[in-house]
Amino acid sequence: MKYLQMKFCNLLSELDSEEKARAWIWLAKFDGKEFICPKCGNATYYQHRKKAEVRECKTCHFAVRLRAGTIFQNSKISLLIWLKAMSLVTQGKRGVSALKLQSDLGMKSYDTAWTLLHKIREALRQRDETYTLHNIIELDGAVFGKRHTGNQTEVLVAVETKDWIDQKGHRKTKAGFAKVLVATETKENAQKFVDKVIEKNSMLNTDASPSFIHLENVDVDYQVVGSDPETLDHWLPWVHKFISNAKSWIAGTHHGVEAKYLNQYLAEYTFRTCIHDLTSRESRVME
Ligand SMILES: [Zn+2]
Repeated sequence: MKYLQMKFCNLLSELDSEEKARAWIWLAKFDGKEFICPKCGNATYYQHRKKAEVRECKTCHFAVRLRAGTIFQNSKISLLIWLKAMSLVTQGKRGVSALKLQSDLGMKSYDTAWTLLHKIREALRQRDETYTLHNIIELDGAVFGKRHTGNQTEVLVAVETKDWIDQKGHRKTKAGFAKVLVATETKENAQKFVDKVIEKNSMLNTDASPSFIHLENVDVDYQVVGSDPETLDHWLPWVHKFISNAKSWIAGTHHGVEAKYLNQYLAEYTFRTCIHDLTSRESRVME
């Protein structure tokens, strides 16, 4: 779904009618064109007179539904509301809660706002799944949730780092994509995670955890880090920045999260982080 990767920054102010929202999604669906027949490849179409969300191929008469095969499929919510919700979810550092979404979009039902939010998160998660990390990757485990509530979740986090040269010619690193897996820190889980999200033979920096130092299919380099913040900052800066920011985001925006939804929340956080947050110290946009 390419439209998820497009910039939402100005979307909210530009889109003020269902008609504009529809036109925007037609363009996103056909990669910037108004129509490409999925059956015969022809680019000319008839607009259905009564059904604004249907276009028909002029050559083979195949009918294309705007919502089919998209996140909007089977939804009764207007496309304008959908786009505004996506824009709100993916912009800004903090994202939104379902309650905020409901009030910002003037929706009557909290449940509808909640469903909308979770569908968007799921789409972001699926999109992220197709990307594998490469170059140099930092890996660590983290515990989310408060100890005294007994509602704690263990997570594995991998963050891609890239060397780049700034405008003054200084060499710096910045973070690229991040991946998370809700799982206990064992060698077995770590190996599964690495095989799934990291390209073979990439370089992997970790602490000296016995679950990490013998990982296969990657080139592991480790240091005894302990809890010394200076060593942490030097050896695993990005993964620790990611973990501490994700924790305060979840605590601040969502007031804690149920374990079963943590994966989706982290996917949303990862998505926004990659664009706005992690790299903002050094550069505005990742790529
Ligand atoms: Zn056709």
